[in-house]
Amino acid sequence: CGIVAYVGGRTAYPILIKGLQRLEYRGYDSAGIALLNGETHVYKCKGKVKDLEMLSKDQDISGTIGMGHTRWATHGEPNDVNAHPHQSMNGKFFVVHNGIIENYSHLRKELKSRGYQFKSETDTEVLANLIENIYLEQKVTAELAVRLALTRVVGAYGLVITCEDEPGQLIAARKGSPLVVGVGDNEYFLASDATPIVEYTDQVIYLNDEEVAVIRQDSLELKNLGNDSKTPDIKKISLS
Ligand code: GLU
Repeated sequence: CGIVAYVGGRTAYPILIKGLQRLEYRGYDSAGIALLNGETHVYKCKGKVKDLEMLSKDQDISGTIGMGHTRWATHGEPNDVNAHPHQSMNGKFFVVHNGIIENYSHLRKELKSRGYQFKSETDTEVLANLIENIYLEQKVTAELAVRLALTRVVGAYGLVITCEDEPGQLIAARKGSPLVVGVGDNEYFLASDATPIVEYTDQVIYLNDEEVAVIRQDSLELKNLGNDSKTPDIKKISLS
């Protein structure tokens, strides 16, 4: 339902929590975050952003890169395990997702026949494992694994993805579900709409369908699923 993500020089945690609060108006049943600081810490639960704050308050919440999600369940009941972010089976990828992977049961069967096991009932975990399977089998970059996986997906997605082997990087993609990039000064924000971003910057890029953005603190690369580079169209939004 809602996505927020950050990469830059500040501590990500308060930006993510505040961003998720700004997205609460959309409605949701669960909330979660992943924070990266060499290792990845995931906190997620059924309930409100307040519950997520309670859950994470005495934990390691360091890290200047991370992503958050509020879930409106479509596949799998609202519970702690089905909440996002989802981790791929071998631990390489973390994914938050808005939307629906329509051919998830076909992909799930295919991945099961390749030895994949699933912790949740979500369509999102299927995508996390599909990306990881392509990454490990074809020995490609995370970004290429994401693009190859997305060419196999039928459905709608707004996505933020991290890969453990490529620290400092967020991969974002969308089709059907909106995703906005906020361009700051040596920092980037991502969100499913601009409300979590406007207090930090008025420079935004609206991703188009089937575009993928590879974002680091000091760089943004935009392309389509077929690897054609796109020039980011930075728009100024009014802050009033
Ligand atoms: N289909 C996903 C799920 O059920 C994402 C739902 C959403 O957009 O929040 O977990």
